[in-house]
Amino acid sequence: MSGGRSAEPGPEGRAVPFYCPYCGDEELTPEAEPVGAWKCQACRRVFTVRLAGLALTEEDEEP
Ligand SMILES: [Zn+2]
Repeated sequence: MSGGRSAEPGPEGRAVPFYCPYCGDEELTPEAEPVGAWKCQACRRVFTVRLAGLALTEEDEEP
């Protein structure tokens, strides 16, 4: 089904995955619970995408 695809970012800066990290399918839909979760329509897994940090060089973090 393709009804009303919105490209607006989530209210809490939800990261948008393009592929399911488990099966690689592209049919991902937002889940209300837990917050920021996505559901894969292919394998039915519900997962969240979380930013772990930025890969800055170690020199940048030296005091
Ligand atoms: Zn999947």
